[in-house]
Amino acid sequence: MNVHDSEKMLGILGNNGYVAAGKPEDADVIIFNTCAIREKAEQKFFSQLGRTKQLKKKNHNLTIAVAGCVAQSEQETVRKRAPHVDVMLGPQNIGRISDMVSGQASNGSFDENHELAYEELFVTRSSRIKAWISIMYGCNNFCSYCIVPYTRGREVSRPSSSIVSEVLRLRGQGYREITLLGQNVNSYKSDCDFTELLRLIDKTEIERMRFVTSHPRDLSLELIRTMQELPSVCEHVHLPLQAGSDNILRMMNRGYTYGEYQKKVDMLREAVPDIAITTDIITGFPGETRQDFEQTVYALNGIEYDGIFAFKYSPRKGTTAFDMENTVPDEEKSERLNRVLQIQEEITYKKNRKLEGTTQEVLIEGSSDTDTALLSGRTRTNKIVTLPDSGDEIGSFVSVLISKARRHSLSGEKC
Ligand code: SAH
Ligand code: SF4
Repeated sequence: MNVHDSEKMLGILGNNGYVAAGKPEDADVIIFNTCAIREKAEQKFFSQLGRTKQLKKKNHNLTIAVAGCVAQSEQETVRKRAPHVDVMLGPQNIGRISDMVSGQASNGSFDENHELAYEELFVTRSSRIKAWISIMYGCNNFCSYCIVPYTRGREVSRPSSSIVSEVLRLRGQGYREITLLGQNVNSYKSDCDFTELLRLIDKTEIERMRFVTSHPRDLSLELIRTMQELPSVCEHVHLPLQAGSDNILRMMNRGYTYGEYQKKVDMLREAVPDIAITTDIITGFPGETRQDFEQTVYALNGIEYDGIFAFKYSPRKGTTAFDMENTVPDEEKSERLNRVLQIQEEITYKKNRKLEGTTQEVLIEGSSDTDTALLSGRTRTNKIVTLPDSGDEIGSFVSVLISKARRHSLSGEKC
């Protein structure tokens, strides 16, 4: 979501005559689009921000802007630690970036802005094949560890007509895949609900459609049926579990038990054979005992995800978990995290090996990061595949016979 916000700010600035500078030393405006989800992201930002002080000494016209969730949640700290910052704006006010950096608007913008859902913002996309599309903003869930509802405000959905026109426009420009973005896409509600939105988009005949993130509590049978029915919806769902223990899930305010979650996974797998399921895991939430943690291990082994993102719990000021007792020592959090990652490595590898000898539809995205002689793309289940470059146009769909599985990718040849 943060990456797509950057694409929007680039689009708005581009429309106002700004061009991207090659390096910070050449820039007249530097914008940090910050993430506050964990402390580590915040620390990285503060150390980078410190370095811009020197640049400002060399270029007196340099404008430094701080956008995103850290700007929203840590206005005072940013001002105190970095008085050289000229402009600050929260994620709900990205539409004002151009006016702000050109000095035509105030130098701070943090209001809750429901209008964001109705604004048609310019976008400069980094890919010409795959596109992010915002369908809703904000979050009403208040999971006890999470800062997002405080920085991105309340949930507002974009009208379906505006989303569908964006898809049509992208299709016209040759895009082959879209990913619908929202903190909890299942609770999309405007003139229609989420499943209806999927139907409307499917009618545009875009080849591939994905969405993130689905909240397990709100993943309905109707959505599962819709995924099964619509040809464009890819066989992949990201369904963040966070923890395997019911006690911890309750303390996290997630609104489901492990049993309920598992039933939804069963339904998904029954309805959409070979669907890839990925998740997010947090280790060391306050009060997480060894036994609680073993429930997370049990869940990983039981569900066998295709991939996970796992994080150590990071206390965020202002959230209810921040004041919870029985915090887990950092060392223990790390140990649990490592265990989770190790277990998942084996599972991912095992699942990848099962794909050896199968044929997969791959959307070619470009040359491989690790070997430029190879092309790289993704399956409908979102797995990375590399293959020899046989002059296939980037952006096309290729049938690939998978010959080798690696831990984080597959390789094969065109068939
Ligand atoms: N709305 C989505 C994504 C939220 S942020 C969802 O509910 O799934 C992405 C992930 O960051 C979360 O799923 C969670 O695993 C992680 N996360 C959020 N806050 C965190 C915190 N304080 N400490 C550690 N991980 C956190
Ligand atoms: Fe955060 Fe929970 Fe909202 Fe996701 S659903 S953004 S984890 S509060």
